[in-house]
Amino acid sequence: MPNGQIMKALSGFYYVRSEGNLYPCKGRGNFRKKKVTPLVGDYVTFETDVNDEGYILGVQERRNELIRPPIANVDQAIVVASVVEPEFKTFLLDRFLVLVESKSIQPIIVFTKTDLASEQQMDQMEQYKRDYEALGYVVIMGSVKVEQNMEMIIPHLRGKTSVVAGQSGVGKSSLLNALHPSLAIETNDISKSLGRGKHTTRHVELIELEEGLVADTPGFSSLELHDIELETLRDYFPELKHYGEQCKFRGCMHHKEPKCAVKEAVASGLISAYRYNNYMQFYEDIQNRKPRY
Ligand code: GDP
Ligand code: ZN
Repeated sequence: MPNGQIMKALSGFYYVRSEGNLYPCKGRGNFRKKKVTPLVGDYVTFETDVNDEGYILGVQERRNELIRPPIANVDQAIVVASVVEPEFKTFLLDRFLVLVESKSIQPIIVFTKTDLASEQQMDQMEQYKRDYEALGYVVIMGSVKVEQNMEMIIPHLRGKTSVVAGQSGVGKSSLLNALHPSLAIETNDISKSLGRGKHTTRHVELIELEEGLVADTPGFSSLELHDIELETLRDYFPELKHYGEQCKFRGCMHHKEPKCAVKEAVASGLISAYRYNNYMQFYEDIQNRKPRY
């Protein structure tokens, strides 16, 4: 029984990639009893009959699953933030990082639109870049428009299934098009001039680049921290995890507890105040269970 990965789902068929070929398959097999609906990204076992008609027989357990877009087994998210237009906000970046990490997805950070930034804005962004790199994140900064540094993303795609994530308007579609020109995804300017929303009729498809697979539609555009447990939030901030080991209380949430090593590290500048403030803001949002956006 061959194994493969579902690359797209269309009109009742799942297109399974296996050893360089694509097999249109229908669902069949005991996974249906378990009420598992195959998703793009799923690793499956399948068989083909004499007419090369394929049938999915089993769906392997998923390492994760996104709802928008519906896709399974995502390894990596390219978290895009623009330097300007819209203006860079650590709050939004950190929110995406938390969402991504809560799904066990490895983030890489891409700052775009450097061609529009002033020297002063660039100095500030260089500082942020160093901050996030110091936390262990890969940060790539450049411009899709003037084709600066975006090729640096490519080696990071190798052997992985990636999605692009980020706030609306930061340049996700433009970036996808740059990575794979034949995609021709509508960018914001076009869809606006046509007076209709983006991605309304799009299905998800995993695009095979030479290096790896990338979903052809952005993920995580909605920002909900609701699913995240308050107790796990601190785990998605590498520096809180690091300094938190020295807090007096084992379950310290770095909030109002005494002898908190995280708060001490913030006070002495070892942890960036904006990161801690974002953590506290998310903490309160989750506690109140109210979306801010
Ligand atoms: P999305 O909503 O994140 O998918 O963003 P789009 O890819 O639709 O881009 C939003 C707008 O920003 C479009 O007008 C793009 O042409 C523009 N844009 C994207 N990347 C860059 C860039 O690096 N530099 C400049 N100047 N504009 C960009
Ligand atoms: Zn603490």
